[in-house]
Amino acid sequence: MISPDILALDFDGVVCDGLREYFQSAWKAYAVVFKPGDPAPPEGLAERFYPLRPVVETGWEMPLVIYGLLSGVPDDDILARWPQLVPALLAQAGVDKAPLAEAMDGVRDRWIQTDLDDWLSYQRFYPGVIDRIQAAIAAGVELVIISTKEGRFIQQLLAQGGVVLPADCILGKEVKRPKYETLRQIKTAHPSAALWFVEDRVKALQAVQQQADLGDVKLFLADWGYNTEADRALARPGSGIWGLTLPQFGRPFEDWIATAM
Ligand SMILES: [Mg+2]
Repeated sequence: MISPDILALDFDGVVCDGLREYFQSAWKAYAVVFKPGDPAPPEGLAERFYPLRPVVETGWEMPLVIYGLLSGVPDDDILARWPQLVPALLAQAGVDKAPLAEAMDGVRDRWIQTDLDDWLSYQRFYPGVIDRIQAAIAAGVELVIISTKEGRFIQQLLAQGGVVLPADCILGKEVKRPKYETLRQIKTAHPSAALWFVEDRVKALQAVQQQADLGDVKLFLADWGYNTEADRALARPGSGIWGLTLPQFGRPFEDWIATAM
């Protein structure tokens, strides 16, 4: 039977869909920096923002995506050449990334401090993911979450879904190391274990591939997360990265690697 001994999952974009929270926080941060006349976001802005989320590498870029959209940059342009647009938009807006980052952190911190339940309620699990996690745990697979979100929030969200994971199985923002380094520590502690890693950012998977000692970690790109068509095209046979769909994720492990590599 094909199965990992240890299944490592990224959280946002694999287990948890945080798009509504991202947009709310990004809009509030945009409002702090750009002070729009109307405190409410324009109609339809959220729906335009959601598909653009994959271009964002760091939180401060999110209010800048909103600035771009509201200054008339076409959505497709943002999707196709965001890294080139960033310096131009910063210059046009006359802001630096520091105040954008401060606004993002401040907005989120205040929201979490004043109404944690409300903040949590803007995040949901992708359909079927909790059931699949429960089934894996029941089958004896050790589940580990590797995320850049704070571990205590992951633990709370999972508990709401009925999954109780020990704190040492949740490696969040607080561990302060790249994901491949966390995988290396798992590998070192369990050298003979079959280790699989599911992530929605192709760059994070490619960074694992660059580690010679992690060559036997099976890598999966979650196509339901925050990635683009171009990212998904990189997870092709021969790339060393398996593309995974949400229905596939819900099925037995052998179906995850059914396609020829
Ligand atoms: Mg992710």
